[in-house]
Amino acid sequence: MKIMMLGAPGVGKGTIAKELIKKLDIPQLSTGDMLRAAVDEQSELGIKAKTFMDAGNLVPDDVVIGLIEERIKKDDCKDGFILDGFPRTIPQAEALDKITEIDKVLNLIAPDDLIIKRLSARRTCEGCSEIFNVIFIPPKVEGKCDKCGGKLIQRDDDKEDSVKNRLEVYTKQTEPLVEFYKEKGILSDVDSSQPIPKIVEDAEKVLAE
Ligand code: AMP
Repeated sequence: MKIMMLGAPGVGKGTIAKELIKKLDIPQLSTGDMLRAAVDEQSELGIKAKTFMDAGNLVPDDVVIGLIEERIKKDDCKDGFILDGFPRTIPQAEALDKITEIDKVLNLIAPDDLIIKRLSARRTCEGCSEIFNVIFIPPKVEGKCDKCGGKLIQRDDDKEDSVKNRLEVYTKQTEPLVEFYKEKGILSDVDSSQPIPKIVEDAEKVLAE
């Protein structure tokens, strides 16, 4: 099954996708993770992407479309995948239409104040990219990843100024995708203000329909 997670930054796309891939045994394709890996490697692409990302702006369409196009061709995607953070603009969605056909879009919804609270409390493992939240998903040992023992850091773009801009960018550039996929008849809303196990349960119900 080819699944797409849609929703504002901080709404829980990555967290819920990680739970779903365990059950469905398909890969999670996160353009954010791919771009952060490129930044860490200091590749040409990473150096170009970093300034956009730190400010909370979108990386140019052609860059992310190229990344996804290459990733989807890989063998582990043949039984399906979960797109997390792609597409984020109408041109990206149109490009995706030409690459493959998506079966279901999960549109995660939560109130703005909860989203801001989640983002500012989010911590990411420097080593394995596991996501924690000092309020909602605290690590067993403060500042340390439960999975690999790596250091938990706050992403530059989870800091206050960048968060505000990311939410504005979402409203202007990404929210129009809700109508785009509604018109295709493949979009379902999922209430993401609930506890994680309940969100996962609701998402699974939608996928089973
Ligand atoms: P994320 O981890 O999905 O929140 O992505 C972090 C940052 O990576 C975003 O704020 C953008 O700067 C960039 N990014 C990730 N996915 C995309 C995309 N599909 N289009 C443009 N920029 C992206």
